Amino acid sequence: MTRLARLRRLLAGEAEALLVTHLPNLLYLVGFRGSSGALVVTRRGASLFTDGRYRLQARQEVRGARVSVSSGDPLRAAARWLRRQGLPRVAYEAQRFTLGQFEQLRQELGPGVELRPARAGVEHLRAIKDAGEVSRVRAGLELTARVFEEVLPYVRPGVRELDLAAEIEYRMKQHGARAPAFETIVASGPRAAWPHGRASEKRLAKNELVIFDMGAILGDYHSDMTRTVHLGTPSARVKRTYRAVREALERAQEAVAAGVAAGRVDAAARGWLGRQGLGRYFVHGTGHGLGLEVHEEPRVGPRVRERLATGNVITLEPGVYIPGWGGVRIEDVVVVRRQGAERLTPLSRELLCL
Ligand code: ZN
Ligand code: ZN
Repeated sequence: MTRLARLRRLLAGEAEALLVTHLPNLLYLVGFRGSSGALVVTRRGASLFTDGRYRLQARQEVRGARVSVSSGDPLRAAARWLRRQGLPRVAYEAQRFTLGQFEQLRQELGPGVELRPARAGVEHLRAIKDAGEVSRVRAGLELTARVFEEVLPYVRPGVRELDLAAEIEYRMKQHGARAPAFETIVASGPRAAWPHGRASEKRLAKNELVIFDMGAILGDYHSDMTRTVHLGTPSARVKRTYRAVREALERAQEAVAAGVAAGRVDAAARGWLGRQGLGRYFVHGTGHGLGLEVHEEPRVGPRVRERLATGNVITLEPGVYIPGWGGVRIEDVVVVRRQGAERLTPLSRELLCL
């Protein structure tokens, strides 16, 4: 069944049309990569509205939808078209709409059309990857791991975090990535206690932990990987902390299987770190889905009841951040299978000492 057909089945009974405006969803449903577009999916067909800049591109990229090019805002063009169809109920992607867009849509559609927030959206479909999607994420992780290994010789005292991030992103593109999946994180020493520390002008120093969180966009799919390395001979505390985080990741991975509530995977990592006396330093969720976006469904966090399903691609990334001391995070990507997790990140989890 095509993606559009599955979406229609999801929508059945909810509305006569769905207005899709979130760009990654346009890419997923009809292949459009432009930065301006609105897609209307009805029971019988689909129409993509875009502006003149994307006339040629849309003709080449779009599959499964009629393309309509207008001079103005695609959302307005889509709304006008919808009004002419006289459909009673239109669902829209409430999570992605600004209030301004909502007001505009309300006005263009007129009082005769009921606007409904879509209950189950395209994101639900996207959470389950097919084999082609899994292999793209895997290829992106292979590229990311290769870049990480290439850059290791530059990781030494005196080099700036920013220079390492630049080297990483340059090499990603050299190996065929379209762009980094997000701003590359290089956080060393006390800065490693910032879970999302941007690379700074700080220079690496001896006896520091350095967190690298990096990923690339390859074939439209995002990769995401974290490794923490140590400069010099690690202290007992560094070794102990690192081992606790690695074991938290292993426990999370062991908890993964189709049908398991995502919150149980989080609890496996969090419970372990808690027993090591490190629970209060683990300040974020255990993982997230990734694919056409770097953060997508499903979420793997405390008390999440949604169950994992075969084909989910998720990160597992426990971390410990100790103010003034530093931090450790290890992040791998796995695909959920019926019986368990299959790891996609091709890199050792042992502590690297440089
Ligand atoms: Zn990451
Ligand atoms: Zn992540």
